[in-house]
Amino acid sequence: MTTSDLLAGDPRMLIDGELLATAGGATFDVIHPATEEVAGQATDGTTDDMARAVAAARRAFDSTGWSRDVEFRYHCLTQLHTALERNKERLRRIVVTEVGVPVGITQSQIDAPVEEVAHWAEFGKSFEYLRDTGVHDSMGGPSRRMIHYDPIGVVGAITPWNAPFYLNVAETTPALMAGNTVILKPAQLTPWSGSELGRIVAEETDFPAGVFNVVTSDANEVGAALSADPRVDMITFTGSTATGRAVLAAGASTVKRTMLELGGKSAHIVLDDADLTKALPMAATLACIASGQSCVLPSRILLPRSRYDEGLAILKATMDAFPVGDPWDPTVMQGPQISAGQRDKVLGLIASGIASGARLITGGGTPEKLNRGYYVQATLLADVDPDSRIAQEEVFGPVLCVLPFDTEDEAIAIANNSIYGLSGEVSSADEDRALRVAQRLRTGSVGINGGMYFGLTSPFGGTKQSGLGRRNGTHGFEEYLEIKTVGLPL
Ligand code: NAD
Repeated sequence: MTTSDLLAGDPRMLIDGELLATAGGATFDVIHPATEEVAGQATDGTTDDMARAVAAARRAFDSTGWSRDVEFRYHCLTQLHTALERNKERLRRIVVTEVGVPVGITQSQIDAPVEEVAHWAEFGKSFEYLRDTGVHDSMGGPSRRMIHYDPIGVVGAITPWNAPFYLNVAETTPALMAGNTVILKPAQLTPWSGSELGRIVAEETDFPAGVFNVVTSDANEVGAALSADPRVDMITFTGSTATGRAVLAAGASTVKRTMLELGGKSAHIVLDDADLTKALPMAATLACIASGQSCVLPSRILLPRSRYDEGLAILKATMDAFPVGDPWDPTVMQGPQISAGQRDKVLGLIASGIASGARLITGGGTPEKLNRGYYVQATLLADVDPDSRIAQEEVFGPVLCVLPFDTEDEAIAIANNSIYGLSGEVSSADEDRALRVAQRLRTGSVGINGGMYFGLTSPFGGTKQSGLGRRNGTHGFEEYLEIKTVGLPL
């Protein structure tokens, strides 16, 4: 592929079954991050548009059979899966255009989420929504009790830009299959991954009007209006911790169920018996791939002092050789940052790290050969102060901080010294030892020796300020359901 493969997504929103522009016709530009050129426009929706979308979702939930008809939902989700399969290569080009993610690593951004739709259709079809829990002899005599799993109602889904199509699917399709109606508000920088989903739902499936709505906008206030609207029963949000706090506060007055998937500052503890030649090339790869714009990235590498220089040399070698460049080149694995603002934020945090005493081992600026696009060099910082900004704040760039330790206890204390608790990694030749360390990490997930913890069948989410609730697995589906207990006399 080449930059001539740039592809603009549908500029329209989906509200109450209609694909449309906002009343005043306002749009905003979508930029291709690798060339800084305007790739096209999206509709700049307003708070009035959001209010209409919420009204449509409310009506569709309260006065249609959607919430009660599992078979029909299965039909619509299965149709959506087939339609997404048909549109897959178009979606891939749109995601590369608006995110700048290298085309060679779009499996997780396109192919996996398309399959996820089929997964939730099957999961929701066979889910036991009504359970007889038998006789309970308590509180004044025996009774029979049933548990009903009911949809929550109107769900607002607010998504970020780093994996926009995947997150749009992951936040909305289990909610829909569980019987809710949905309003999706995609990120400003990546509106088309949302508007295309809206177009496909409207043009290629039987979803009734109002069940699924998409409102694109360049204004934060439109997302804020969704999270504050009293007609919305639940917000599912993925994004930064700062915005997550605002979403939680906005929902407090109507006690909204709020699911939050937020930022991270994960640590990788490399124990002194680990095989560094296996653990560290992978650690450096994770930092560079997709330009480090991943919430679970283990961006703090904790190396034993006894193997510190050996470890730094391996990390540096992988980072220096990492294939960076044009995201349309299938051999490239590191593209640009998403925007000039993100590039400048990453460079500013690197500078703050150096100012606080960190040693620059490689990188630190923008690549010389790439004179357009929002690129940042793969950057390795050693001797990082565990309390400094660069060790505490999420960078969301191709940057690794290395921190030395002497004992296992010290490593665990450094790893847990964070407001975040999304994920972590432990490397050791002794799996039991690694498991003991993993148990003491205050995070939602841990990988041992590169073991994969993420997938549709296992719960995923954050502890501390990395989030509330879990996506995926049975836990993830039940987040979109209310539990009602019904008592019956014997
Ligand atoms: P962001 O918080 O800036 O924006 C996320 C979304 O919130 C966007 O759609 C934005 O328009 C909307 N928004 C902004 N202000 C709002 C408000 N006041 N009320 C309601 N909505 C509002 O995040 P971002 O920069 O788009 O994404 C990067 C962040 O996402 C990183 O922190 C990353 O770690 C996080 N993330 C987390 C996960 C996870 O699973 N934990 C996954 C991907 C990304």
